Amino acid sequence: MESVHPTLHDVLQTIENAAVLAGRPRQVGLLAVSKTRPASAVRELAAAGQRAFGENYVQEGAGKARELADLGLEWHLIGHLQSNKCREAAEAFDWVQSVDRVKLVAALDQARPADRPPLNVLIQVNVDGEAGKSGCRPDEVMPLAEAVAAAPRLRLRGLMAIPEPHPDPGHRRASFRRLQELQAALAARFPGIDTLSMGMSDDFPLAIAEGATLVRIGTALFGPRGQ
Ligand SMILES: *Cc1c(COP(=O)(O)O)cnc(C)c1O
Repeated sequence: MESVHPTLHDVLQTIENAAVLAGRPRQVGLLAVSKTRPASAVRELAAAGQRAFGENYVQEGAGKARELADLGLEWHLIGHLQSNKCREAAEAFDWVQSVDRVKLVAALDQARPADRPPLNVLIQVNVDGEAGKSGCRPDEVMPLAEAVAAAPRLRLRGLMAIPEPHPDPGHRRASFRRLQELQAALAARFPGIDTLSMGMSDDFPLAIAEGATLVRIGTALFGPRGQ
C-alpha cells in the first residue's frame, strides 16, 4: 500500500497539468532531488510511490543508495562529475546526467560493473554559455553523443541542462526551446533517445511546455535546503 504524501501529490498534479497542456499526457517523469536530505526523507517519498532520486555528490548519493538498497530505487547523478569519481559513480548510480566531456565517457564505460545493465547517460549542455558552469557547448553535443553511443557499457538517453536562472521567464523559455531543438537534432542521429531533463522547482511547468520529459525537483518536494 502506498502512503499519502500531499506535497508529492501536488507536484505530480502540476506536472501532469503541464504535460496535458503541452499535448503530452503521462509523458513527463519526476526526479526527486534529494541532495542534503536524510535517507529517512527519501524513504518517506519512496513509500508514497516515488522511484527516481537525484543527487549532486557521488559520495552522498552512493551512501544513500547503499542505505536504501532494500527499496530498489533508481539513482541519478546530476552534479558535476570529477574524473577521479567515475568508478564510484558507475558503481552506485543508474543514470549519470552530467556527462560533459569525452574523458568521462571512457572512465564510466570501463568502470560500469559487468553484472549491471548499461549505465544510462545524459549529456549536460551549458545552453546559455555561462562562464565557469558545467556542461558542454551546444556544438560539442554531437561528438560527445557519438562517443557515448560507441561505449558498450553506456546507454545514451538524451540531454540535461540547467538554464541560466534569469529573472525574465521569456529568457528561460528561449533556453528551454534551444534545448528542445538540440534534442531533436540528436534524435535525428540517435532515434533511441527519450529523455530531455530540464526544469526545477521554480520553472518546471515552463520546461514541460518546451519539451521536458524529466523534471528535477528538490525544494518544491522537500522544502528549502538549509545552508
Ligand atoms: C539542486 C538541483 C535541482 C533541484 O533544484 P530545486 O530548485 O531545489 O528544485 C535540480 N537540478 C540540479 C542539477 C540541481 O543541482
